[in-house]
Formats: sequence, structure tokens, C-alpha cells
Amino acid sequence: METTILPAEKDPMGAAIHEFFNRRNAGRLRVFSSQFDEDEIPVRQLFRSFSSMPAIERTALQLAQGRILDVGAGSGCHALALQEMGKDVCAIDVSSLSVEVMIQRGVNDARLINLFDQSFRESFDTILMLMNGSGIIGKLSNMPAFFQRMKQMLRPGGCIYMDSSDLSYLFEEEEDGSILIDLAGNYYGEIDFRMKYKDIEGDSFHWLYVDFETLGLYASECGFKAELVKRGKHYDYLAKLTVA
Ligand code: SAH
Repeated sequence: METTILPAEKDPMGAAIHEFFNRRNAGRLRVFSSQFDEDEIPVRQLFRSFSSMPAIERTALQLAQGRILDVGAGSGCHALALQEMGKDVCAIDVSSLSVEVMIQRGVNDARLINLFDQSFRESFDTILMLMNGSGIIGKLSNMPAFFQRMKQMLRPGGCIYMDSSDLSYLFEEEEDGSILIDLAGNYYGEIDFRMKYKDIEGDSFHWLYVDFETLGLYASECGFKAELVKRGKHYDYLAKLTVA
């Protein structure tokens, strides 16, 4: 797994977060993919408060306990909500611009760290991966490395709360609901993305959307157990992963 940190000139999302925080306004955070049409992430949404979060995120925050790790914490929206609940959270991100914003917003323990950097040796009772948190795994072939890393980082009795989506609905035929998936190709949830904010262009990266059944199969192969905690409104769900 890659263990790099994002330089500011290659960090469109961090730039958008930084600008929105400092100027209360931001331009368009554009998303490109070879598999989809151009899209946009509303920057304001990255600053959502507890009450405007999707139910699966609120549930994850309510269930989180003990020493908590917020992975890929972005603007710190989840970390701040956890702090308000009196919980103990460490927020990590590979974006220095985002970490700077988290510190300014009052996240007590925000650090510039890549989840897969082995020199980060702390352990946690709850590991949170939210806003299609499975994305950070990148590809199904990275699942064993991901679960191995989680084994190092979880305290006894600890768990991971991760949200993801089953993208198979994107391949459904209109008329009969049958699904067109190229079985010889890559898994349909392996998406490549590239982001752009103003003149800042990021490199292309892999982002994994995984259906619950597939997640469960990989989990059990890697010595974990996956439970479905809650389904969202749009093919999304929250899973709890524990060492089996
Ligand atoms: N959790 C936030 C942000 C989601 S966007 C929210 O829900 O609003 C995903 C974030 O993960 C980005 O800020 C990105 O910089 C960070 N990220 C991506 N790969 C990472 C890694 N390997 N380790 C830590 N953070 C990572």
C-alpha cells in the first residue's frame, strides 16, 4: 500500500477545504473518472454538522467508543462531532491543508499521517472510515494488506466502522432489472478518480466501493467478521468489522 503524503500542489480537495474554511466560500471541486461523467463534490458538504450527516454516519459516531481513530478525516467534521460528545479521537489525513484546517477548527489531535505508514504504531478501540470509507483500500487486491494493518492497529475487542455502497445499481438494465456486469473485467466497484479544484489537479487514484457480501468474504478470509449495522437510503450501508 502507498504510504505517501499529498503535496499541496497535488491536493485539490485539501485546497477546496482550506479555501472554504478561510473564505467561507469555495469554487467547484470537480471529479473525473474514466468510468463516469464528470461530477462535483459540494465543498460545503465536507463541513457537515452532526444533524446534517446521513443516518449511517450518525450511527457510527454514536457507536464509537474508547480511543477512536478517524481515518481520512478531511475537514474534521466527524472528529469535531465526536469531541462534542466528549469522546477521545485522533484524526489523521494525508492532506496537510486539511490537517491545518482541522487544527484551526479545534480538533485536539489532528495529524498528517497515512493510514498505511507502519511507523504510526498507536492502537485504537474504534477505527472510523466514513464517506465511502472503503475507498481508501483502493482495490479488492489490497484487502489482505488492509486487514493486516487493521490487526496491528485494533486494541483487543476493538472494531472498525466503515461505510460503503454497492454500485451494481449503476449497471442495471432499465426494462427487466437484470444486471450487466463484465465478469471477466475488474470488480465493478473499483473506480478511478481524479479531482480538480481551480488550477490544482490531483493525480488519478483508485477508490473502492464494495458491496457488503464481497466485503464479508474478504473479511472472513483475512480473519475478520463483518456485520451489517445499518443500510442507508441509496445502496449504501454501515459495516462493523471485528477480529474473528
Ligand atoms: N472523512 C471525511 C473526508 C472524506 S474524503 C468526510 O467524511 O468528510 C477522504 C479523505 O481521506 C481525504 O481527506 C483524503 O486526503 C484522505 N485519505 C486518502 N487516503 C488516505 C490514507 N491512506 N491515509 C489517511 N488519509 C487518507
